Amino acid sequence: MPVSSDFDRVEKALNRFLEESLAGERPVISVRPLGELLEELRVDELISHGGLTDERLDEFLQTYLGAASRMQHPGMMGHQVGCPHPGGVLGGFIDAFTNNPMNIYEMGASAAALEFAVINWMLKKVGWFPVPLPGESRGTDHFGAGVLTHGGSLAQLTALATARSYADCTVWEQGNNPDLVVVAPKESHYSVSRALGLMGMGQQALRLAPCDRQGRMEPKGLRRLLHRLENDGSEVMAVVANACNTAAGLYDPLDEIGEICNSEQVWLHVDGAHGASALLSRSHRQRLKGIERANSLIWDAHKMMRTPGLCAAVLVKDHRTLEHSFAQQASYLLHDKDQPGIDFISRTVECTKAGLGLRFFMVLASEGEAALGEYVTGRYDFATQVADLITTHPRLELAVAPQANIVCFRVKDIDDKGQLELRRQLIGDAQSYVTTTLYAGRRWLRFTFMNPDTGLLDVQKAIDSLLQHAETLPADKRTEPTKGNGDAGSPSSRDD
Ligand SMILES: *Cc1c(COP(=O)(O)O)cnc(C)c1O
Repeated sequence: MPVSSDFDRVEKALNRFLEESLAGERPVISVRPLGELLEELRVDELISHGGLTDERLDEFLQTYLGAASRMQHPGMMGHQVGCPHPGGVLGGFIDAFTNNPMNIYEMGASAAALEFAVINWMLKKVGWFPVPLPGESRGTDHFGAGVLTHGGSLAQLTALATARSYADCTVWEQGNNPDLVVVAPKESHYSVSRALGLMGMGQQALRLAPCDRQGRMEPKGLRRLLHRLENDGSEVMAVVANACNTAAGLYDPLDEIGEICNSEQVWLHVDGAHGASALLSRSHRQRLKGIERANSLIWDAHKMMRTPGLCAAVLVKDHRTLEHSFAQQASYLLHDKDQPGIDFISRTVECTKAGLGLRFFMVLASEGEAALGEYVTGRYDFATQVADLITTHPRLELAVAPQANIVCFRVKDIDDKGQLELRRQLIGDAQSYVTTTLYAGRRWLRFTFMNPDTGLLDVQKAIDSLLQHAETLPADKRTEPTKGNGDAGSPSSRDD
């Protein structure tokens, strides 16, 4: 157990880290060579002899935090990882300290209670019925269910496994049914195709959904595809819709897709890892219109809900589907017991699981849901403001009008390699951090506005630097790019 003076040292170091980050005084990211960093952290010596306390701890923290990426830096406009809320950070700390394996109710009742509470809160936001308390009867079996997992990718796997169990309950015992296919847009996150790989269905089970030129699913084409697949003897295990997609942050038209899936009796899974948080925003909620028609949804709290990593929800409209997703026995854990709570363990890939609900709850409970919704609204509106700035700029090109807090753009007259080179040089300046993405067959620079402190001046600074670097790019990177073919390939968004 660290002595209390070590807690003080950590607190002081983190406060300094925060102040420097907010003031933009230190590099937003610092990508130092691995060997050099390990040496400066004195890793080998500390592992052999211990003694990470007092001044040694101070030294270590200085190096560690000096090389850490700063999510609180206003120039952080890169990945879709939340700028952690102080309430959530405390939640993470309390959770680490108590270390309750709450997947079994009796091993962490308070953590499980909060997971139950935030799941029910999320179900209600979607428009699904919350889970009754054990023993409570509502006179109906129509209610949802959910579980928190360590990240959206695991949530994706869990949701797709649930859809598969629903489509064919024999797969768990007998292995895959080769007729099962999943329909998803090309712009889907790579965790969709990875889940199919892990589930042993292979990439051949993936059918690309018809999309418009901007990469959004096209409902009429979807209906035709579903009929064609049925005629070919395939069985559609799930249609995956994005709300929103990773690369450009666009929402698929859920209402129309939901209507088609409902009438064709096909499982609709919505990937809302990033964009389901817009359910809290009064002005952007309509992007998710029709979401209640879906059968399952994933929703990351560690993205737009400012919860420290990781905390992702798998939600289903019908509780029975999730309860049957993993039909497995582990007699020492999963036996019938008379207890006043719920074991989440039968729904997760994880056995031991952290108190993820506590982290998320402490963000919600610090801010209140209205304020958190205003944060989402603010970041989404800010992206539109930045898009306007880009559209009117003579040297910049906007990929598509944003629907979330993600903006893709290019410096004009520079080819794909040149855009990557511009990003490399921008990162070298250490004042701004952006990502890039392939979208519609071309390479784009990409802002993601997660940090509530990022303002127009920070964006302007990044743009000015990019344009300055563009001046010195060699001539071979300055040719006008040829438009690539955006229609081929499999889901490929590997940005976050
Ligand atoms: C980030 C993201 C994921 C993956 O979530 P992780 O928590 O990073 O594993 C899946 N889908 C979409 C649309 C995402 O934006």
